[in-house]
Amino acid sequence: MEHCTTPTRVKPRPHGGIATEVTTVKAVRVLVVEDETDLADAVATGLRREGYAVDIANDGEDALDKLAYTEYDLVCLDLTLPKVDGIEVCRQIRNGDTASTGTRVLMLTARDAVGDRVSGLDQGADDYLVKPYAFAELTARVRTLLRRDAGRSGAILHVGDLELDTARLLATRGGRDLELTAKEFALLRYFMTHAGEVLSTEDLLEHVWDQFTDPFTNTVRVTVGTLRRKLSAGGEPPVIETLIGSGYRLHDQPT
Ligand code: CA
Repeated sequence: MEHCTTPTRVKPRPHGGIATEVTTVKAVRVLVVEDETDLADAVATGLRREGYAVDIANDGEDALDKLAYTEYDLVCLDLTLPKVDGIEVCRQIRNGDTASTGTRVLMLTARDAVGDRVSGLDQGADDYLVKPYAFAELTARVRTLLRRDAGRSGAILHVGDLELDTARLLATRGGRDLELTAKEFALLRYFMTHAGEVLSTEDLLEHVWDQFTDPFTNTVRVTVGTLRRKLSAGGEPPVIETLIGSGYRLHDQPT
């Protein structure tokens, strides 16, 4: 059986380009939370070059908004932020107040803020890095945290006869293995965590693709189409409905 676990890198693509559809690589989603915009951009650019799908939040409120809807694998979280500080963001993640309850948190702290560092770890940060840091050190920590993540048991989602194992990256329908690309897997995961809701193309672009995907691309329609075919390849009834002009909906009841 084939599933989407190898290799760990995706080919970088220019911002605004059309996502490559045929990939069996799991896109690892990272949220960079940093109020120094130049630093945030530099970190995001570097992580994208490493093959991660990266979003940026420039304050704590923006971070919580993004975390509410997107299941990030890792958050690089600056401690001192406008509106809501990093400690509070971390606390809400660990409290289960966001969609990213299982996310790894790498806290970034100023050099002398030892007390901050301790309270960051108390609030459930997985690691910390002292600013200023070398980019190579950041990517090394990110890799280590994500490796640690791979050994952990993740959530298993169920909707109707669909089952999705987020840690082992396996999806089945009625016990039949679905051979999904990374993007199809991420899309199905998003549908399953929002079962019964109408999701617009914009919602899907924002949460399943990264924020630099060309909004005029037909990638969502194409990927929903291939996912739908795979979901019904065993003759099962369709579960993803198209609502003309408003989007898509995954049925939360067997049809
Ligand atoms: Ca800051």
